[in-house]
Amino acid sequence: MLVLLYAGAAAATTGCWYGLASVDGAAGWFAWVGRLTGLLAGYACAVLLGLISRIPALDRGVGSDRLARWHALSGRYTIVLSTVHMAFATAAHVARSGTGVLRGTVGLVLDGPAVLEATIGFGLLSGVAVISVRAVRRRLRYETWHYLHLLTYGGVFLAFAHQLTGPDFAGGAVASTLWRALYVSVAVSLVWYRFLTPVRRALRHRLRVAGVRMESPGVVSVYVTGEHLGELGAEPGQFFRWRFLAPGMWWTANPYSLSAPANSRFLRITVKAVGDHSRALARLRPGTRVWAEGPYGALTAARRRKPRVLLIGGGVGISPLRTLFETLPGQVTLVYMARRDEDLVLRNELDSIAAARGATVHYTVDELTGTSGGRAVPLTGRALRTLIPGLAVHDVYLCGPTGMTTAARHALRRAGVPNRRIHVESFDF
Ligand SMILES: Cc1cc2nc3c(=O)[nH]c(=O)nc-3n(C[C@H](O)[C@H](O)[C@H](O)COP(=O)(O)OP(=O)(O)OC[C@H]3O[C@@H](n4cnc5c(N)ncnc54)[C@H](O)[C@@H]3O)c2cc1C
Repeated sequence: MLVLLYAGAAAATTGCWYGLASVDGAAGWFAWVGRLTGLLAGYACAVLLGLISRIPALDRGVGSDRLARWHALSGRYTIVLSTVHMAFATAAHVARSGTGVLRGTVGLVLDGPAVLEATIGFGLLSGVAVISVRAVRRRLRYETWHYLHLLTYGGVFLAFAHQLTGPDFAGGAVASTLWRALYVSVAVSLVWYRFLTPVRRALRHRLRVAGVRMESPGVVSVYVTGEHLGELGAEPGQFFRWRFLAPGMWWTANPYSLSAPANSRFLRITVKAVGDHSRALARLRPGTRVWAEGPYGALTAARRRKPRVLLIGGGVGISPLRTLFETLPGQVTLVYMARRDEDLVLRNELDSIAAARGATVHYTVDELTGTSGGRAVPLTGRALRTLIPGLAVHDVYLCGPTGMTTAARHALRRAGVPNRRIHVESFDF
């Protein structure tokens, strides 16, 4: 995938590299750097949107959390490349026109081809970048950040016309057609997968809440029923974005993993109350209409390479692992970590599955000093190796809070499990 992205960047800048031989003088070099970074910024914009278009093959192959990280990275590239592009294009303009910096810059913004629109677009993208900085984002409600973040579409849209005025497209019908095709395919994917598919699914499956069950203080399971559920194609380990059409909830769609294998009668999620949306689930009434967008996620059986599998779940991260524990073929062991005894949810189900398939479950009640059948299980390579014989030849599926999954990944690496066999679902975006 990364190779494909870099190949795309190389293809997008081909004309620019050919033009290198004819670059002359300082103004020529300024213009060339401006041209190269402008092309790369335009390409990064298309990638930025393509990565979050929710194309199923992309989502399954790469994983939603990794796609979200790449999307954020493309956003940073876009801002840096656009800034360099603006600085160098302005320097070239000022050098060629012989006007002062201020007059030259204002003249370029007001009279340059679609430069004003592109500058406003850059302003919007910069605003989104600022609210996405971790320290700022933490202070915002998720929904506030999410809706402001949608300004990205406006920013990219405004910058598009300017891109086509560059020297690579102004005279070249082929290059301009390919560039338009890139943007049109991204736009079609976005409309198809983010808007039309969810609407079509909502009409086809007519999902509604069947019931809510309390699993432990602060954790509930929601059962959702509907029509043609088998057609959803949800695999164990995957998640949906759930929009419950109840007062105060319909305007937000939150991701929750299936905590039981999907079947023709119901879908089930198990959710810990951490904020407004997750807390409100306990109050859902049977019959409430539901829109579920998905299934998404790459934490599935397709990742498995070895016959032996270790599942490590932290807290409510047990949800997707519960379905994998039941359905993954081969020899499966589950380590379930929680801070307190009462946080170990779905315990009866896990014990029944373990008994039915002759598998082992280790419960640990504190992630650093917990006990498993009376033994301390610190989250270190040595402790995991002792607990799981032959650990290095296992595939490991990890799900839980970021701190726990990071510590577990380090411990597994030290225990000799290669990175490619550690499969993680992060609950943080
Ligand atoms: C792929 C995935 C699967 C998940 N599966 C489960 C699960 O099975 N059970 C469970 O209890 N939790 C799960 N979560 C976490 C769950 O989505 C959040 O705890 C929940 O959305 C918090 O929303 P809130 O309004 O209750 O809390 P808030 O206080 O508003 O949010 C707390 C944090 O949750 C995240 N969040 C909130 N809304 C969204 C959203 N719409 N999209 C993405 N992230 C959001 C943000 O990082 C936010 O900072 C999952 C998260 C992801 C990304």
